[in-house]
Amino acid sequence: MTMMGLTGRFEGKTAVVTGAGGGIGSAIARRLAAEGAHVYVADANEAAAKEVADSIAGDGGSAEPLVFDLLESAASAAAVQQIIGDRGRLDVLVNNAGVNRRGDLLSLTEDDWKLSFAVNVDSLFHLCRAALPHMIEAGGGAIVNTASQWGLYPAPAHIAYNVSKAAVVAFTQNLARDYAPHKVRVNAVAPGEVHTPMLEAGLARNGRTVADLDALVPFGRIGKPEEIAALVAFLASDEAPYICGSVIEITGAQAVA
Ligand code: NAD
Repeated sequence: MTMMGLTGRFEGKTAVVTGAGGGIGSAIARRLAAEGAHVYVADANEAAAKEVADSIAGDGGSAEPLVFDLLESAASAAAVQQIIGDRGRLDVLVNNAGVNRRGDLLSLTEDDWKLSFAVNVDSLFHLCRAALPHMIEAGGGAIVNTASQWGLYPAPAHIAYNVSKAAVVAFTQNLARDYAPHKVRVNAVAPGEVHTPMLEAGLARNGRTVADLDALVPFGRIGKPEEIAALVAFLASDEAPYICGSVIEITGAQAVA
């Protein structure tokens, strides 16, 4: 039985979602669990990871927290080892954790540049290197990366974020090209503005409101985490068997406004 009457597309599968203590990541974790996956709720924020895993379990899903800092490269390999040791398989890897540091080239600090790449890009290098051999051995798997519309169409004064998300797009395309022969499907989502703690932090910095952002979107409002989660779940599922190397924009038409 799955939660919320959704289909069991991930019945018997194991998934790990990074940044799953946050807005979009927690929605992805809930969605995959609701469709039958056992989900590792990965986050550096222990309290948030536990809360999300507990809440999924409370709804009848299968989940557990996996607390580690993506800045520690060895921790990614250890996390994958733990998953394989416990479950014997890793079917779905969602690289969703991210940080958003504001600034143009002259105002940004070097530390913020390095942090943006460490969390938004290097973490994909480490986690994918750890997970890929197991997916290849199993005959396939699915990796979904959270990029951003800003990685495709740069927003002003966010050079570290924009360039790191452009790197996520390129990383996705390269990995897909190299591992499609092994039936490892690698795709990315490129969301527009989505109502999450990261977005709230940005609004607090620049004095704008959600209504201000809603007005910029042709669809009339910014996105909801659940809407991104539905797309990630589709891309990770067997309903998307031939989608590989794609970057799907999900912006309420903001990207084309
Ligand atoms: P969020 O801040 O709510 O969640 C991010 C999570 O990542 C947090 O729980 C945080 O603890 C975790 N994290 C950060 N650094 C980490 C580290 N070093 N190790 C382990 N975990 C770490 O943000 P969100 O809005 O849910 O964003 C999720 C993803 O979606 C990010 O990659 C973000 O860039 C992307 N995105 C967000 C929006 C938006 O408008 N919110 C738009 C496009 C793309």
